[in-house]
Amino acid sequence: MKSNAMWIITLMVWFAGFQTSAAASMIKKVAPSFWWAGMKNPELQVLLYGDGIGSSEVSLSANDIVVKEVVRPENPNYLLLYLDLGKAGAQKFDITLKQNKKKTVIPYELRERAAGAGEVEGFDASDVLYLIMPDRFANGDPSNDVVPGMLERKIDRAYGFGRHGGDLKGIQDHLDYIADLGVTAIWLNPIQENDMPESSYHGYAITDYYQVDRRLGSNEEFRLLVKNASAKGLKVVMDMIFNHCGSENYLFKDKPSKDWFNYDSQYTQSSFKTASQSDPHASAYDQKRAVDGWFTRVMPDLNQRNPHVATYLIQNSIWWIEYAGINGIRQDTHPYADFDMMARWCEAVLGEYPAFNIVGETWLGSNVQISYWQRGSRLAAPRDSNLPTVMDFPFMELTTRVFDEPTGDWDGGFFRVYEYLSQDFVYADPTRLLTFLDNHDTSRFYRDEADTKNLDRFRQAVTFLLTTRGIPQLYYGTEILMAADKADGDGALRVDFPGGWAGDTTDAFTAAGRTARQNEAFGFLRELLRWRQHNQAIAQGTLKHFLPQDGVYVYERKLGGESIVVFLNGRDSERTIELDRYREVLPDAKARDIIGREEITLQERLTLPARGTLILKFNV
Ligand code: CA
Repeated sequence: MKSNAMWIITLMVWFAGFQTSAAASMIKKVAPSFWWAGMKNPELQVLLYGDGIGSSEVSLSANDIVVKEVVRPENPNYLLLYLDLGKAGAQKFDITLKQNKKKTVIPYELRERAAGAGEVEGFDASDVLYLIMPDRFANGDPSNDVVPGMLERKIDRAYGFGRHGGDLKGIQDHLDYIADLGVTAIWLNPIQENDMPESSYHGYAITDYYQVDRRLGSNEEFRLLVKNASAKGLKVVMDMIFNHCGSENYLFKDKPSKDWFNYDSQYTQSSFKTASQSDPHASAYDQKRAVDGWFTRVMPDLNQRNPHVATYLIQNSIWWIEYAGINGIRQDTHPYADFDMMARWCEAVLGEYPAFNIVGETWLGSNVQISYWQRGSRLAAPRDSNLPTVMDFPFMELTTRVFDEPTGDWDGGFFRVYEYLSQDFVYADPTRLLTFLDNHDTSRFYRDEADTKNLDRFRQAVTFLLTTRGIPQLYYGTEILMAADKADGDGALRVDFPGGWAGDTTDAFTAAGRTARQNEAFGFLRELLRWRQHNQAIAQGTLKHFLPQDGVYVYERKLGGESIVVFLNGRDSERTIELDRYREVLPDAKARDIIGREEITLQERLTLPARGTLILKFNV
């Protein structure tokens, strides 16, 4: 009897234990894993992923939360709960799944929103963005270089497609360097998990939308990075990708239904010709190929027309804004996704955070095409993307040539700039364009080391970038004259910042570690950036320019009683210009040269050295 009783007790303990562990292992993902009470949009989608949970009965132990709908996709490993949180306060509760006699309890939380969370400040033309590829900037924590259990098992700094070990700690460690340079925002290439077997260091093959890649750090580290950056006057722009994910994403490997991905989840290559989205003559075939085609075989194309996919993505971006307090989103390959869904996404984000900003990667050939993608575009009407900021790729193209090519009497050089900016009427808001000399996908401003001897080119380019209309973006390493040609592969565009790794022979984060020429460029850029931070005429002022004459391009930025006038000599020889034709932007004979810091008195004529740059500030 005694032994029998023992048996029964043992069996009961074992059985209870079995039930608990089975329940715990059954749920593999809860997305999002928590949410907030008091959001403007009262609806919440909770995606549950676990073996065979699809037929479960669902109940909540919650106050004032209504289960609006339980969606059971064709894959029995998923459940999608739609909750109405309109009357719900912050609380912890359980989501209980019942299947026959099996019971699974999933703890859930609606958190209290942080004070001011809805008023998070976006980025605008008063900012300058500094783009960092986290794997290639600085390795602050070598212990996370290789994470056991993740698919890519090594780091290899000599290999362009390999992981190099850079991380969020490395960025955190150099926040002072970035703030000191004078930029006001950091844009990070994607930090979300990319657990792919190879070549995912760049971050554009997301395998979990809610998780910072563990080789870069943790969600909490990212939240702290945003907080610490903010304390130093730096905003943070997060990269997101709604068009595609990585093929190792659980949502693809064990997809809720085959219509979560385009072409019924069968690889079909995109044409990459997204001009078809705005083409009045486009064939249905071309439109579908561009938008529904996959970016690559290992980047399956998400079907944003599936309403569950759309909600999943929209909520994910709101989750990161609310969780980490980021100031902006850069949306990858924006025109490759469904236009209407992306418009709804922008509306949802800006509805929740009216002061926020979003920039879409609109890599198209002309201002006409790009303008189509900006909020309020008359060319796209009655369609409206709701996207506040688009990327000015034609501007970048111009900067690859106008600082080398001589400005003639009729065309060439700055005539190209003049012509291009004179067409700004196509844009709904040219002041909200993201402008740049280069980024992680293009050749750098200097294509090879030998070119960097020409610092006049650098001075003119960064002066133009930082003083004409738009929201400027710099790519890490520009300040130390990093040079790269895309013909040498993407790895060449994304080299490690010298000094970011223990044992690096040079440390370009310090003046002592930079060459004299690098320090000259760095000093010029830093002075200009710091001056720009306090300049309302640049941030919000009007732009007025003159047809180039005698090889010189002249423009004014003006707001109220403050004006800036920039002179750029587009020739390789000294030019003396008559100032008479510029009188309307020269309100006073006295002005301050903001680089030389001296007060100058303007005469009838002004002499500029070969490829000279002069920035004058007037206080009227
Ligand atoms: Ca590391």
